[in-house]
Amino acid sequence: MTLSFDGLGLAEPLRLALKAENYLQPTPIQVQAIPLLNEGRDLLGIAQTGTGKTAAFALPILQRLSQQRLPRTPGSPHALILAPTRELAGQIGERFAAYGRDLPLRTAVIFGGVNQTRQVKELARGVDILVATPGRLLDLCNQRHIRLDKVSILVLDEADRMLDMGFVRDVRKIVALCRTKRQTLLFSATMPPDIAKLAQDILTSPVRVDVSPATIAVDRIEQQVFFVGTSAKRTLLTELLADPAMDRVLVFTRTKHGADKVCRHLLQSGIATEALHGNKAQNARVRALDAFRAGRARILVATDIAARGIDVPGISHVINFELPNEPESYVHRIGRTARAGAGGAALSFCDHSERPYLRAIESLMRRKVAVAEHRLSETPSALPEQPRPQHARPAAPAGAKRRQGFRGRRFGGASGAAPSSSNRREAFRH
Ligand code: AMP
Repeated sequence: MTLSFDGLGLAEPLRLALKAENYLQPTPIQVQAIPLLNEGRDLLGIAQTGTGKTAAFALPILQRLSQQRLPRTPGSPHALILAPTRELAGQIGERFAAYGRDLPLRTAVIFGGVNQTRQVKELARGVDILVATPGRLLDLCNQRHIRLDKVSILVLDEADRMLDMGFVRDVRKIVALCRTKRQTLLFSATMPPDIAKLAQDILTSPVRVDVSPATIAVDRIEQQVFFVGTSAKRTLLTELLADPAMDRVLVFTRTKHGADKVCRHLLQSGIATEALHGNKAQNARVRALDAFRAGRARILVATDIAARGIDVPGISHVINFELPNEPESYVHRIGRTARAGAGGAALSFCDHSERPYLRAIESLMRRKVAVAEHRLSETPSALPEQPRPQHARPAAPAGAKRRQGFRGRRFGGASGAAPSSSNRREAFRH
């Protein structure tokens, strides 16, 4: 396996940009995908955010377009990247700007939920690479601000999420507007039948690169489950957050309402917290993410969809305040804490009604999640379908002893060292 970027055939300006980003060696998906994409192959990538997939497609696109030197026309890009959410689109745009900083290529990012005027102006100045969410893109195509007939490289990022969000018809319409002679890349964290069908329809003899988290990221994350009654979850959360090692924590809830409730509770407990979910206006979402990234908020409470594509380095812990009902979402969630090779910790709260979700998650990962001891633990009699494990000790009393109980297992374990500050890179400096 190539252990440096030098063997991947990248042009000098890209290699310099990677040095500036302090990328020392390529991630597995970059090693596998970049040479194939440089050859012009179509690609089916099974990968989630956190694997380095953005650079895996951005670097070959920048390389190809800078070599081709195609004329730049207003509103008519040569490469198109489709992303499900505005957050992800924004982050992809930032990555293109960082990697392509020494190349004469122009990238624009467009997404819905904001006024279109600035986006239209930017498009009119000419654009080589366009990053877009499907709805706004089609809207601007219909208004004739954008033409896609020169798109020779098309990327569908997080295709499973785009389909989950109901974009399937839009995506197919957009694909039909692009050149038929093109290079197409489809990235998806999971491969349900509708994605396999889409891939079959739009890719030509693709190579398949699989770095799926069920086999990779999950191994680096120390996972624990706390069996706890619904009403005790908030107390458990504040108690766990008393540990200073929890310095950048992403808390997941299933619903927007739930996210707001947890956020309010933490604020009332004096813990700097932000919430991120789809009911928030775009500028409120940006503010929340910025505060979390900059460390002004130690905690970010988010729902699954809003958290898609959040790329914040140095997340020390993911807490599943509620377990997701789709097991794949669990893998996405916990992957936020093990970015670019770092380790991390994921703690899940599981009440009685969530036991089936836990079983589905364990069967997807083909491994059990370790059970954490704590004083609020549900009594065995409340959990008829899954007895406490053999090693369970009596619940520790509150205070130092209790903290020692979960700290010892969390931080002292051999498999999951807490991420050190040295492997927390600040990808986004504001
Ligand atoms: P992605 O999976 O594309 O969302 O990338 C996840 C994070 O890893 C981003 O913060 C990237 O900047 C970072 N990253 C990507 N490739 C590398 C690399 N080869 N070395 C270090 N960090 C990387």
